[in-house]
Amino acid sequence: MDSKTAPVGRFAPTPSGRMHLGNVFAALIAWLSVRSRNGSLVLRMEDLDTQRTSDEFAELLRQDLRWLGLDWDEETAPQSQRSPVYDRYFEQLRQLGLLYPCYCTRSQLHNVNAPHLSDGTYVYAGTCRNLTEPPANRLPAWRVIVPEREFVVNDLCQGTFRQNLSTDCGDFVVRRADGCYVYQLAVTVDDGEAGVTEVVRGMDLLGSAPRQMYLQELFGFAHPDYGHVPMLLAPDGRRLSKRDRDLDLGQLRLRLKPEELIGKLAAAAGLLDCCEAISAKELASVFTWDKLKGEAIYLEQL
Ligand code: GLU
Repeated sequence: MDSKTAPVGRFAPTPSGRMHLGNVFAALIAWLSVRSRNGSLVLRMEDLDTQRTSDEFAELLRQDLRWLGLDWDEETAPQSQRSPVYDRYFEQLRQLGLLYPCYCTRSQLHNVNAPHLSDGTYVYAGTCRNLTEPPANRLPAWRVIVPEREFVVNDLCQGTFRQNLSTDCGDFVVRRADGCYVYQLAVTVDDGEAGVTEVVRGMDLLGSAPRQMYLQELFGFAHPDYGHVPMLLAPDGRRLSKRDRDLDLGQLRLRLKPEELIGKLAAAAGLLDCCEAISAKELASVFTWDKLKGEAIYLEQL
């Protein structure tokens, strides 16, 4: 981490529902990391999936962040409005000769390709890389060719994470057959253009970082620092999910003060020695990354 320049962090929620504890935790750490070092925070709505997202949820997200005391310096355009920008970067990949059309159907993808153990996705076998006769009447998705190279993430929470894009991931889709850009491309462009220097988000996205680092190199963006924060788990090891409605902020706000919620999260994460109510601002004065390690945090009843 470069201590000479103030960090630029970001929080990039998907407005597809009420803010959940996992989102709260990621937002809190993203905020603490920059605010404890006089940095700034960018807010961005990741609403590429227009079927599942809405302006109403985006507004509730902003209200929930304010309630938590997590402010931001700038909100950049939501992803749903940025297709023309993504077009330009897509074109760059085409110029580099790194794109090819892929006609594989969903069932082909699952049958032919090797499963990727860590996150349930698959390693694309390159089926369409040298296609000579594309099937008629079908629009293709577009994949970017990946190098036979290991990418190394020096993660602030998870330590060293390595992924060889060729053997652990394969050529990946950057634009779907319906013309929508995918998360990996959009997030790389948005973070790069916003000058983001640190990406703090849930541990479930650690496996995406190498794809984003590769695109950063191709687009000429510097790599940000990464901090993939532990997942919040129920005491029985179950992952807290959006289905646990009682743990979304709509419910939690009815029974907890923001300082109580932040205190409980901070204590569970080891940022505080004991569970006491504390504001985000107060917590910023004692926050350091070395207190936050591991893949999971077990959360007792809130
Ligand atoms: N939009 C993603 C989410 O809400 C986060 C993506 C990111 O932080 O890179 O889970």
